Amino acid sequence: MPKPENDSLEQIYNIHTHVFTLAHVPDGFLGFGIVPAARNPIVAKFIDWLLTNIHPFKNNDTYDRLAVFARAAAFPTSKDIFVHMKGYYPYGTKFCVLAMDFEHMGAGKTLAYEKQLQDMLAIKNDQELGEFIIPFIAIDPRRKNLLDLVRKYVEEAGFCGLKLYPPLGYYPDDPALHPVYAYAQENGLPLIAHCSPGGVYQKSRISGAVKKELLKKIRPIPWQVRWKWWKVNKHLTAAYSHPENYVPVLEKFPELKICLGHFGGIEEWDRYMNDSWKPDEERPFDKAWLAVILDMMQMYPNLYADIAYTVEAERLLPMISVLVRNPLFRTHILYGSDCYMVEMDKSERAFSVNVRGYLGEADFKQIAQDNPREFLGIA
Ligand SMILES: [Zn+2]
Repeated sequence: MPKPENDSLEQIYNIHTHVFTLAHVPDGFLGFGIVPAARNPIVAKFIDWLLTNIHPFKNNDTYDRLAVFARAAAFPTSKDIFVHMKGYYPYGTKFCVLAMDFEHMGAGKTLAYEKQLQDMLAIKNDQELGEFIIPFIAIDPRRKNLLDLVRKYVEEAGFCGLKLYPPLGYYPDDPALHPVYAYAQENGLPLIAHCSPGGVYQKSRISGAVKKELLKKIRPIPWQVRWKWWKVNKHLTAAYSHPENYVPVLEKFPELKICLGHFGGIEEWDRYMNDSWKPDEERPFDKAWLAVILDMMQMYPNLYADIAYTVEAERLLPMISVLVRNPLFRTHILYGSDCYMVEMDKSERAFSVNVRGYLGEADFKQIAQDNPREFLGIA
C-alpha cells in the first residue's frame, strides 16, 4: 500500500528535536548516580513508575529531565526515538535533529559524542528514515580539532547545520568558534543555539573572575546566587545564553543564519508579560530576553528564533500568534518542539496540533514550512 498523503501542507519541518539517549550523556549529568543506574532498563521502568505515580519534586528540573529520560528509556536507541517522534507527525515531515556535546561540561568523562553523531548518521543512512532527518552537529570551542570534525560530518556524512549550547560553559563569541562560523557562512550552514536561562549547565567550578563577568548579565540576580546557595552554577551559566551575546557574532558573520532556540524561554516570556521597562533602556540585561531578541531581529535579517518548548505553556500561545502576525517578525519564526525534552505533559502530536490549531493554517504554514525552507536554504 502506498504511503498516504495525509496532510494539506506540502512539507512540515520541525526545526528543533533531539534523539540522544542515556548512553550519550556523562555519568554525572543528573547527579546522585542516577544516570549509570537508569541505564538499566528495569531501573528506568521503576523510576518512570515512581515519577508517574508520585510527584515529589514537580517542576524541579532534575526531576523533569529524569522523568523524560526514564520514559525515553522505552526507546533505547536514537533510531527508536526518531521513529517514535516521526509517528506523531503527518507522513513526510522532516526533523532537524540537534546533537549535544556534553564532554566539556564537567559532569564526568564521556567519549560518547562521536557515538551520538554516528547514531544520527545511522538514521540518515537508513533507507526508510534517511530523507526525514536533517542532522545538526554540536560545536563546543573547547573541543580539539573542532573544524576538522565539522568538515568531516558536513562533507562526508551530509550534516546540514550547527548546534550551540552555551550554558555548558562558553560564550557564543568564543574566538575558537570563529573558524567554524566562517566555514558555516561560506557553505550556507545555519546555526541553532540554545537561548533560554534554563536547560542543562556547566557542573565544574567557576572561577571568581568569570563569575564576576557572568553576574553583569543576569537580571534579576537570583537569591541562590546572592546566598551562594545550591545550583549557583545553573543561574550563573544562564548568562552564557543571553541573546545579547550573539551581537558580535552577527556583526562579524552577517551572512550566517542564526536561530535562537526557545525564543528566550518560558521564564523570559513570562517576564516580558509581567515587567515594565523604558523603550530606550540602555541596560539590555534588565530587559526580558524576548524583548532583546525582538529588538535584534529588526537589526539583523539573518536572525531567527524557534518556539521549541516555549509554547508548551499554553498561556503563551496568544503571544506567539501576535508575533507571527507582525510583519517585522513573521518570516523569522520557526516551528520546533524540542522533542523529546518536552514530552512531559502532552505528546508531540498534542503539542503540534495545539500550535497549529491556535495559529490557523496560514500562520502555521509560515512557521513550519516557508520559514524553515528559507532558514535551511532549501529552494
Ligand atoms: Zn533543545
